[in-house]
Amino acid sequence: MAEILKGAPVAKAIKEKIKKEAELLKQKNIIPTLGIIRMGNRADDISYEKSVIKNCESVGIQVRVFEVSADTPMNEFVELLKKVNEDGSIHGILMFRPLPKHIDYEVIKNIIDPRKDIDCMNPINLEKVFEGELDGFVPCTPKAVIEVLKYYNIPLAGANVAIINRSMVVGRPLSMMFLGESSTVTICHSKTRNLPKVTSDADIVVAAVGKARMLGNEYFSENSIVIDVGINDAGEGKICGDVDYDNVVENVKAITPVPGGVGSVTSAILLSHVIIACKNITK
Ligand code: NAP
Repeated sequence: MAEILKGAPVAKAIKEKIKKEAELLKQKNIIPTLGIIRMGNRADDISYEKSVIKNCESVGIQVRVFEVSADTPMNEFVELLKKVNEDGSIHGILMFRPLPKHIDYEVIKNIIDPRKDIDCMNPINLEKVFEGELDGFVPCTPKAVIEVLKYYNIPLAGANVAIINRSMVVGRPLSMMFLGESSTVTICHSKTRNLPKVTSDADIVVAAVGKARMLGNEYFSENSIVIDVGINDAGEGKICGDVDYDNVVENVKAITPVPGGVGSVTSAILLSHVIIACKNITK
């Protein structure tokens, strides 16, 4: 039976650190503040917003929500973003994606102030990740993967890591982070030949395919440490990962569950970025 790498204790440890830092900032009369920009009322945006607000409140981060209708023209949306950029009382900005089709993300990502870009949208911040500067705003999900592994004392230096994903949100930045930890990284994707052999040979496998329970025992060995980033619809209002957890859990060394794994750490990372932004802006 595998060791279950639960996200909750990792998130708790990160949040406790944030709480202390928010308290120190408050002693200097600085209230770390997140600005959420939301277009329209999509149910998943609203539910994510509620959970972000609840999380922020639990660690002493204030939230201001800027809500505009889903048909707000591009120029007005840009004006709003610039206003929030220039508002000195807001330290971090979170925008829910995907944005409506008439909003040009390529333009928006370059306008968000890199110092407030807690979700790593601006190419300036992403470039830093690829240059090996990993203490700024790195994408939250890849950072959550690294934090889970570190929390459970899984050695990264020299480890062979297979990542099944080459997207800019997960696989590419994550590969840079593993390199920063001196791991040896293989980036896999839909054209990778003999994927089960590649992943079975790795010490750590990160799955971010986006296909419910696609990865069965043939993808792993008894020594595999499996990090499941996938969030898939499992029907009946439930979610599941990319790994066939119930069958695989018996046969690998360690595994993250879905739900309750990487996803629960991702939101804590986002909060930690508000503190980083606040400290940088107010120093
Ligand atoms: P994406 O852009 O669709 O990337 C999927 C990746 O999987 C691609 O690189 C694709 O290869 C590869 N792939 C697809 N089918 C494959 C197959 N049969 N064999 C091998 N590789 C295959 O998705 P994403 O936005 O990066 O997200 C991936 C997953 O992570 C989703 O389930 C998403 O919900 C989840 N996610 C979780 C979090 C979190 O906080 N936990 C955050 C973001 C995303 P090609 O490049 O060749 O197409």
